[in-house]
Amino acid sequence: MTARLLDGKQLAQTLQTELTREVAAFQARTGIRPGLAAVLVGDNHPGALYVKNKRKACAAVGIESWLHELPSSTTQGELLALLARLNADPQVHGILVQLPLPRHLDEEKIVDFIHPLKDVDGFGPSSLGLLTAGRPRFLACTPYGVMQLLQRNGIATAGKHAVIVGRSNIVGKPLALLLSRKGADATVTVCHSRTPDIAHFTRQADLIVMAIGQPDYLKADMVKPGAVVIDVGMNRRPDNSWTGDVDFASVREVASAITPVPGGVGPMTVTMLLFNTLQAARLQQLPALDEVVKI
Ligand code: NAP
Repeated sequence: MTARLLDGKQLAQTLQTELTREVAAFQARTGIRPGLAAVLVGDNHPGALYVKNKRKACAAVGIESWLHELPSSTTQGELLALLARLNADPQVHGILVQLPLPRHLDEEKIVDFIHPLKDVDGFGPSSLGLLTAGRPRFLACTPYGVMQLLQRNGIATAGKHAVIVGRSNIVGKPLALLLSRKGADATVTVCHSRTPDIAHFTRQADLIVMAIGQPDYLKADMVKPGAVVIDVGMNRRPDNSWTGDVDFASVREVASAITPVPGGVGPMTVTMLLFNTLQAARLQQLPALDEVVKI
């Protein structure tokens, strides 16, 4: 069997076309253009390219964006002062602080300081708490993108056993909540670095999501024939090319569907940030029920 390719790049383009219409309709109705402020702290930041791509995607769908580039020497107080201004600025609907931050800055305090209605990355405690309570406001963009990839490709999760490898706050943990919530109805197992014999779990899975940052970790003999495999991992090879957490060449011969790296989950993550920014603009204008997009 050769697996069906779940093309995140193509789906992201389709979603962005839909979103362009939604942004235009929102602007026509309210006179307000959704806006995203990106904050990049540090020289030669590894996330600079991501921020550039996110701003390019904003422009493509009609969302305004601003980049605040701060030097590595920026103090906690200076960064909090900038965030206070952005929190209060009515033109800014979403705030994105690109991680990681330089070591002397307290990442948790910074993320917590972003206004809950502007937390378009979905990393803050309100966003995570609401998701846990079963009434999400902003979903973290990568899990949101994974759910869209599954739904839009007609991959049912109800009654399936999903095994997620990785338990970070930005990928594994929120994804476990999303897959197990009513409507998605998967039975979820979460593995991590202290799980003995991860293959024991992945071999039982109908759906495997890899999110650990270990190149080519998942091999074909760890996968049940016909399973769906989603690769969140993004790892640089020595030659500067990208690879995921899945040994793509061997696993695609066993799985029924698989995401490539690059071109799988990555473009979906960027796209869901745009959805969250429009959602933030809606929530800040008209917190009426019909303005809240169903997730
Ligand atoms: P992270 O915060 O470093 O978390 C990694 C998780 O993987 C942790 O839960 C860790 O376990 C677990 N882990 C690490 N090595 C393991 C191993 N050998 N066996 C089992 N579990 C292991 O990473 P992250 O931010 O979630 O990102 C994970 C990967 O996804 C990275 O490659 C990252 O670049 C990529 N990523 C991609 C996107 C995208 O848009 N495509 C978005 C976000 C992240 P412990 O908790 O026990 O330490």
